[in-house]
Amino acid sequence: MQIPKHVNKIIATLENAGHEAFIVGGCVRDIIRGVVPKDWDVATSALPTEIKGLFIRSIDTGIRHGTITILFGKNSYEVTTYRIDGEYLDNRRPKSVTFTSEIEKDLSRRDFTVNAIAYNSNRGFVDPFDGRGDIGRGLIKCVGDPESRFGEDALRMLRAVRFAAVLGFDVCENAIDAICLLKENMRDISSERIREELCKLLNGKFPNAIKLLQSTGLMYYVLRGREYGGDLDRVVLQLSSSENVRLALFFSWAKDCEEILRDLRFDNKTIRTVSQYVKYLPVKTPLCRYEIKKILRLMTINNFEELLTLKEIVTPSKSLKELLTQARDIEKNECYTLHDLAINGNDLAAAGFPRGKAMGEKLESLLDAVMRDPSLNTKEQLICL
Ligand code: ATP
Ligand code: MG
Repeated sequence: MQIPKHVNKIIATLENAGHEAFIVGGCVRDIIRGVVPKDWDVATSALPTEIKGLFIRSIDTGIRHGTITILFGKNSYEVTTYRIDGEYLDNRRPKSVTFTSEIEKDLSRRDFTVNAIAYNSNRGFVDPFDGRGDIGRGLIKCVGDPESRFGEDALRMLRAVRFAAVLGFDVCENAIDAICLLKENMRDISSERIREELCKLLNGKFPNAIKLLQSTGLMYYVLRGREYGGDLDRVVLQLSSSENVRLALFFSWAKDCEEILRDLRFDNKTIRTVSQYVKYLPVKTPLCRYEIKKILRLMTINNFEELLTLKEIVTPSKSLKELLTQARDIEKNECYTLHDLAINGNDLAAAGFPRGKAMGEKLESLLDAVMRDPSLNTKEQLICL
């Protein structure tokens, strides 16, 4: 097992000070699957203040919940004190968090068996819920009773589907039944937490799992009280590398795509790009050069290329490659912005045109003329128009 030297150092430092420490959660799961983990989380019996005292550079990430981030150069690692969650309030957060000195107790508060395994070189695996067995079987199974675990934190229902989509595992039957029963509790979950899981879900290598959102009824709550209006069968057949393309594909049915993305607290750039894609997706091709310029005024050539990728997925057509070649040519060689116009406000003013709103409109209409007929783009001709 290849554990990075910084992680081994963190564990050794904690152990040498008389504490216990293990790698836990996603990284252990990924190692067992033979996948290189994205990040490494350490759980320890040391209290947050004790952790801080042992390392030179640290950040109090969530000190109340026991999490300290340890920094080594550009790398960072989360170290969290073993904890037990207190009673849960409003389907989403524990009333209190208690630290404990037993790794098994920390593992038992975790969501799924595959995420509840710890490892260090002294003790090997600590795997009280047979998470390794479930990794072998390809099963997302709750630690304990699904109804009570989903009742504590409703987000876990969406996480179950997310892990199914990322790992290619099945969600076990009693968990699915519990989701059908408790899906409404998702109302209490913040849009930020939902968005984060939804994005990971859409980026999963096994998108078929998305259908579970629909079959369990969870989708309605993920969409913050809306029915899904698209065709998931088509969505899941398509894999594409960019997150914006995936989102646009997922939301391609939505007339109010922008509003949904806003409700889910996506950032402005994503909202703008994805809703533009959804808006222009139904545009009929081929497009004339003027129409291409109109679109290039609204989005970069890279975004246009992504839009065509999306269009190719939804309505394959031979003309799309040709369209991109044309758009690249236009982007390089032709005028479609005020910036590239051979005349500007100062030129118009010098010719006696009053400044103000009318001038802006005049420039826009000159640009429009040049976008239709590029040969007009000289000062002499434009001043006469
Ligand atoms: P990824 O590789 O996508 O980061 P991960 O397993 O690390 O997957 P995280 O969301 O980063 O997932 O959570 C880290 C660990 O914390 C999980 O493996 C799980 O043990 C625990 N965990 C996270 N969220 C919850 C939750 N809502 N309820 C219970 N345990 C959770
Ligand atoms: Mg993680």
